[in-house]
Amino acid sequence: MTPALLWSIDQTALPVVGRTEVFPVRRVYCVGRNYIDHIREMREGSERDDPFFFQKPPDAVVATGATVPYPPQTDDLQFEGELVAAIGTEGADLSPRDAVAHVFGFAAGIDLTRRDRQRECREMARPWEAGKSFDHSAPCGPILPADEAAGTLSGELLLSVNDEPRQRTSLELMIWDLPEIVSHLSRSYRIMPGDLIYTGTPAGVAAVHPGDRIRVDITGLPVLTVTIGERETHASQ
Ligand code: MN
Repeated sequence: MTPALLWSIDQTALPVVGRTEVFPVRRVYCVGRNYIDHIREMREGSERDDPFFFQKPPDAVVATGATVPYPPQTDDLQFEGELVAAIGTEGADLSPRDAVAHVFGFAAGIDLTRRDRQRECREMARPWEAGKSFDHSAPCGPILPADEAAGTLSGELLLSVNDEPRQRTSLELMIWDLPEIVSHLSRSYRIMPGDLIYTGTPAGVAAVHPGDRIRVDITGLPVLTVTIGERETHASQ
């Protein structure tokens, strides 16, 4: 007999500063490389290539305060602190100048990465899926509307683990600035309300372990903190 289709699917949503409404998440795009010092520490190709994008599933987004289970299939879970842009209006083939108006707001984010799986994918010329697109892999802080985030794009990102600073950068050191990223993305995909764009990470990425507390501070934005939990088991019940 065919089973009944009785489940419902929760809509992932993020809080918005100053609003009772939430921001429903549609898609999660991430920029592959966007700071020269991180490209150098990863010993990856050209520093002037066009930006490229990968996606994480929307239900990989977790809010500040969450405990993120240590994921399966890795012994090298790493943080990447990133500025996140939240898209508020539809657009395609946008110029950098026109792209800015489509950004609803900004948040602090972490592109959690199974680095051992990502390196394997790279060596075998496979997609980055196993390294990047796992459950709970996209922590994101509350969204601050863009008109209240005037100093953010010329500000700083600081990621710390257990109160030790690990990544610190000026956001002005992005290879492709925010208008250019949104413009590039909009040439490949129609951007839509609810899209999140993780804009890349600077140098300093490293492993975290169960019990570690990761904090991301970006100028003007609400703080993002997550704690790494125990290793998640996928054993049959
Ligand atoms: Mn990243």
